[in-house]
Parts: sequence; structure tokens; C-alpha cells
Amino acid sequence: MICVHCDYDFDSRGTRKVIAGGKINECADCVEELGTETAVKYLGCTSADGKMGGVSILAFDSNEARENYRAAWNNNIGMHKGKSAALSGSNTAMSGMKFRQVGENFGNSNHKGKL
Ligand SMILES: [Zn+2]
Repeated sequence: MICVHCDYDFDSRGTRKVIAGGKINECADCVEELGTETAVKYLGCTSADGKMGGVSILAFDSNEARENYRAAWNNNIGMHKGKSAALSGSNTAMSGMKFRQVGENFGNSNHKGKL
């Protein structure tokens, strides 16, 4: 496959190209350089619920919304703060953020019949 931008003969199914995205006739370097990949990547959020980790796959309308959500999520679950799932007044508000949930795998809550 010859890149439409730089005439470089690249592997259109190579790992770098797959990760970089972009159009089929653009090499990975040009996709990154020109920023032609506009799809917003899915965001996986993990939570520690019971014994299993749960994961939610979320899709956003923009990278900005994705970043906002990720930042709020990381703050709320206490990432980088040495604690997990801490509830406090400093939690970032997560309401009003636009996203749709595209997949979910909640772990076993391990509630032993009690809710
Ligand atoms: Zn190129």
C-alpha cells in the first residue's frame, strides 16, 4: 500500500497502522503527523466491585468529553492517590457528561444474598 501523502510503501495491516488508525491509504506516520484519525477511542473504566473487577466500555462524542470523563473517573476512584474507591467531598461531578455505554462487565458483587 502506497501512502497517499508521502508515497511510502507501508503495510496497511501492520500493528502500527492498526493502532494509528486513519484512512486505509495513509501510512501510520502520516496519520499521527497530520492527525487524520478523528475517531474517538473507546474508554475502558475499571472498578473494584466485590471480588471481580468490573469494566465499563464507554463511547464519547469527542476526545475532550472522553478526557473529562477519564479525569473525573480517575479522581473519583482514587487513582494516583494511594486509595481505592474513596468517597469524599472532593469527588469530581460526573453528571452532565455526554457518553453512551457500549459494553459492560460487572463483577460478582459478592453480597451473599443481602442487598
Ligand atoms: Zn505517509
